[in-house]
Amino acid sequence: MDSIYLDHAAATPLRAEVAVAMEEAAAKAFGNPSSQHALGRLAKRFLEDAREQIMELVGGRAAGAVRDRLVFTSGATEANRMAMLGLANEGCRVAVSSRDHPSIASAAAELAQRGHSVRTLPLEPDGTIVAAALADAIADASGTSLLVAVTPVCGQTGLRDTISAAWCRPDSSLSFTVTIHADATQAAAWEALEFARSPYATMTLASHKFGGPRGIGGLLVRGDMPHLSLTPLLPGAQELGLRGGTEAVSLAVGFARALELVAAERDHVSRRVESLRKQFEEGLVTAARDAGLDALVIGQNAPRAPHIAAVSIPGIARQTLVIAADLEGVCLSAGTACASGSSEPPPVLCGLRLDDAVVAGTFRASLGRSTTQADVDEALARLRQVLARVPR
Ligand code: PLP
Repeated sequence: MDSIYLDHAAATPLRAEVAVAMEEAAAKAFGNPSSQHALGRLAKRFLEDAREQIMELVGGRAAGAVRDRLVFTSGATEANRMAMLGLANEGCRVAVSSRDHPSIASAAAELAQRGHSVRTLPLEPDGTIVAAALADAIADASGTSLLVAVTPVCGQTGLRDTISAAWCRPDSSLSFTVTIHADATQAAAWEALEFARSPYATMTLASHKFGGPRGIGGLLVRGDMPHLSLTPLLPGAQELGLRGGTEAVSLAVGFARALELVAAERDHVSRRVESLRKQFEEGLVTAARDAGLDALVIGQNAPRAPHIAAVSIPGIARQTLVIAADLEGVCLSAGTACASGSSEPPPVLCGLRLDDAVVAGTFRASLGRSTTQADVDEALARLRQVLARVPR
């Protein structure tokens, strides 16, 4: 039985065009970009071309008097950690929310241990940060500075939040700085990120969420915010002193190629994936009803990214459903990939203040560019069988 892969928010298949570009880079640009000889310089050129291309594709400034920076990292976890730990200067207050990835939560916990005042902002039912709580956090930071983490697309629910960042856009009337870090890991495939025009000081990307290779991500850093001073997690001369270690040139090339492909086809792929996701949600709700169960889509009418469906079937434990679906060859998720081994529910579901039974029954299906109509039809047929016999 073939597996039907509905876990694209965790990882996407490497695109063939990306594999070709990486193979070529690995063959030609195998030198160390720090070496001064011709092959070192060639590797450096591949690396810097990839960096420039990515910056341009996300609306960063790769040239000119004010230039943004892109620091290549191992993925989004490292980029989030670099931003959170690196941007929190002495005495800085910190605000995060339960819609953030655990890598932001764990960095915030570490900052609290180091003596920073950290607060977790509450969420509205639509998954956006409560504006009044954000206003309080800004007011309370008066006289010092504030670091706010925002996640434009929540990895667990797909719920969008672009208003919080716009709301706390650094305001020249403030006598202190509000620095915003955005984790755009789940957003990059689906929206054009206008980094230089955004209110973000730093922004996280990860290539394996859009057909690129695993093991590379990046942190974009604004060039026009003079107060930004990042400390490296891994000191070394590479990456402008912000990340030591020999650079992964062919991964950077694959990252750039994947983003180029995504940007060229974003609109029609988004429309197609969103339509398939809606069919999946509707089909699942119907299948559940036919099995005598209620199913509900988390944040159904709120702004959401095209690819993620967080669905709850109260009365059926999400782990049980995900295992039963797997036995039928349907790959779903019971939590963020890094937390899927844990029985704790994803924090965002608790942050949305849903009933315990709804939280316990929520699983995630995430579609991607390679998902077909046949995949959705077959997944629904298999899940219909699962729902008919899964223990309640
Ligand atoms: N941030 C978000 C919103 C995510 O969805 C993920 C992974 O699912 C990450 C960060 C972590 O990504 P990585 O596995 O590249 O560290």
